[in-house]
Amino acid sequence: MRAIVHLLLLFSTLTTAAYPAVPAPAQVLGFPVGADKKLADWSQIREYFSRLDASSDRVLTQELGETTLGKPMLLAIISSPGNLRRLDEYRKIQASLADPRIKGEKPEALIDAGKVVVLVTCGIHSTEVGSPLTAVDLAYTLATSRSPETVEILDRVILLLVPSLNPDGTTLVADWYRKTLGTPAEGTTPPQLYHPYSGHDNNRDWFMFTQKETRLLVEKVHQQWHPQIVVDLHQMGAFGARLFIPPFIDPIDPNVDAILQAEIADVGTSILSSMVRAGRAGVVTNAIFDAFTPGRSYQHYHGGVRILMEAASARLASPLAVNAAQMKPVADFDPTKASWNFPLPWEPGTWKIGDVITYQKEAVQACLLHAARFRREWLRGFYKVGLNAVMRKEPYAFIIPADQRDPQSLLDLLEILRLGQVEVRRADADFQVPAKLLSAPYGNPERSRFPSRSFVVQIAQPYGAFAKTLLERQNYRMPVGKDLRTPYDVTGHTLGLLLGVEVYEADQAFDEAESAVARDAGKDYRARVSGEGPYCLFSHENNAFAILTNRFLKAGAPVSWAPNGFQVEGRGFPVGTLMARFSGDAAALGKLLEGLPVTVERVGRAPQLAWQELRAPRTAVYQSYEPAPDEGWTRWILEKNEFAFQLLADKDLRTGDLARHDVIVLCSQDPKSIVEGLSDPYPAEYRGGIGTEGLAKLKAFADQGGVLLLLGDACGLAKQMGLEVEDLATGLDRERFYIPGTLLKASVNNRHPIGYGMGQETAVMFDSSPFFEASRGLPIVRYSPHDTVLSGWARGENLLANQSGMTELRTGQGAVVLIGFRTQFRAQARATFKFLFNCLYYATTFRS
Ligand SMILES: [Zn+2]
Repeated sequence: MRAIVHLLLLFSTLTTAAYPAVPAPAQVLGFPVGADKKLADWSQIREYFSRLDASSDRVLTQELGETTLGKPMLLAIISSPGNLRRLDEYRKIQASLADPRIKGEKPEALIDAGKVVVLVTCGIHSTEVGSPLTAVDLAYTLATSRSPETVEILDRVILLLVPSLNPDGTTLVADWYRKTLGTPAEGTTPPQLYHPYSGHDNNRDWFMFTQKETRLLVEKVHQQWHPQIVVDLHQMGAFGARLFIPPFIDPIDPNVDAILQAEIADVGTSILSSMVRAGRAGVVTNAIFDAFTPGRSYQHYHGGVRILMEAASARLASPLAVNAAQMKPVADFDPTKASWNFPLPWEPGTWKIGDVITYQKEAVQACLLHAARFRREWLRGFYKVGLNAVMRKEPYAFIIPADQRDPQSLLDLLEILRLGQVEVRRADADFQVPAKLLSAPYGNPERSRFPSRSFVVQIAQPYGAFAKTLLERQNYRMPVGKDLRTPYDVTGHTLGLLLGVEVYEADQAFDEAESAVARDAGKDYRARVSGEGPYCLFSHENNAFAILTNRFLKAGAPVSWAPNGFQVEGRGFPVGTLMARFSGDAAALGKLLEGLPVTVERVGRAPQLAWQELRAPRTAVYQSYEPAPDEGWTRWILEKNEFAFQLLADKDLRTGDLARHDVIVLCSQDPKSIVEGLSDPYPAEYRGGIGTEGLAKLKAFADQGGVLLLLGDACGLAKQMGLEVEDLATGLDRERFYIPGTLLKASVNNRHPIGYGMGQETAVMFDSSPFFEASRGLPIVRYSPHDTVLSGWARGENLLANQSGMTELRTGQGAVVLIGFRTQFRAQARATFKFLFNCLYYATTFRS
């Protein structure tokens, strides 16, 4: 819908003449939606929605902003022409219902007047190729159909349709598919991450908000519209059900309001019965997927239900023949037999992209019709979820003290709460209240005095549940009387532990002499400089140390770190303290400090000790043709922290000159896939991995004075290089030992350079990680023998006691460093980013 047409509609009776005919998808795409072997890239999808916008008074298309690679991300708003003219009004109704504290119109009047807002998101996982085309087909139907169901939907629902949550990946996969069409590699997934940084992990970012696409959706759609229903279209494996729809299996995060839990089941089973009535076989509900992690479900803490839909996959857009022998039972159902949650089995045969699109489209239409028909109930439920939230009494509040050892991570935490629309208040004065620590080992087990300017998050607010699930410790368990299933996803997401920020909980009400909402906490933590002289001392405890170090080095100012603690004029500085020799004036220093929450103390003479000088690390990161999200996240973290680095492909490791690098990082990836790489049917240029030649070259690189950093699963390479180290997790079966995403307590040797800036204990993210005998090499991090599990679920954690999570193996002139746990996991585990950063600087001390 165009603005100009908008005006014509108001003042003219010649309304329809203002619009060109609505084009069928084939007229724009060049092929009918659902045709075999046809994918649309983002420019085609975008073109279709711009044509719809121009031709239909039921569709309004907006650009939300730019993706990582600079493509426009789109939102199509679809409703009746009358509703589209009054969008601002409906948005205000949503906002008022979302926050029952707003005085004004009575809720029943708002419920009478409002529309159900349904958000449908497509294409987050780009190799799940159906849904961007489903979006096109659905939009066309809603723009043109005169069926009574469509009229009912358009009248009562405002549909927010995001045709792709990852437009960069939509194009990447379409290009790869076309390039390989008709070759042996037809239907394979591309040999690179389909989101430039996060790959398949892009739908685990819904509480850390690191990626541009996540932020656009949260800031431009969720925060503006507060959708009651969010449908997220995905695809799964090819040999089970044809379509999964909720209800989810247990456990559901208990912070998800009971109303939402019940509504998920309500709309889910309604969709199921609609599909079965239409004769769509193979639809399953209440299987496979739980709803525990906020990493996939922002809306569960913002008044909306998450309706995940997972369709079976073909071979991208190529058909796939499925036979009965391939259909295997799983825990919740047998795809060859009828059961209550799978009433109509699918007869095996050929499955096509057209089937994916048909199932997705019909399921979404059933969902929209449910929303329309139960409009009042959806709005009343939404209002009541908000009411429950603002009436909540326990715990009274969370307290985040102003005096934190790592101001950068404190600001990161506050930014997450801001994006979650959590209200954070600040205390105007010191205050007292008994509070218990949620972020052990960071903080004091009991604390009752908090300084002025501390941050207070009261539970009684519309999105208090978002704060609660992120600030408390997770207890992943099944409801009483049911067998525990192993988790679908990670189970620990406590922000205080991920970020190394002290967080407390107070159960009793207190008067913190509160001031206004903390909108710009950063002001208090702006860079500060004291003293005079060319030597700049700064703390290693602050995560911003790395950016500052990198900026000094880039400016030609030598940076050193202190191998022991020292005093300056009676003030103590701990081991690892950094010192830059900077000859610039105050203005030049101010420029280097821009945007950093750091404190710099200038002194005229360097304190007398054996300073270890660092260089800008010549870092290389291995990038496989078997896409590893950990590699993408690592690149994102290095770029954000202003580290320069090079990427190494398989052939660089097989034949390149590695001595040019100080440190080579291999991110978490199955060692077999690193060594052997892709094989048939991929084109020859992508095949073969690093091979045994690459392994030998990596070993030689370390022997000759380089540092090889192996992260997570890549630690398995050390043994293959002939180093004496054993992954103790090898051979332990899941019944005895299984920890797939839990925050564990570990002790740190913080006198070792890689441990500089860390406390004596830390929380680490353990994700089915390797671990090592403490007698091998030099252990830098060891698992605690007591109270090992800090947050989340674990089985067999006693086997970790005193064993090593990170170890340094000296070899020749250099070293191999193994970090078994996920030290920079999904850019979330920021408390342990220092291990990665330190390792890069440490590498520059070997050949100096
Ligand atoms: Zn998916």
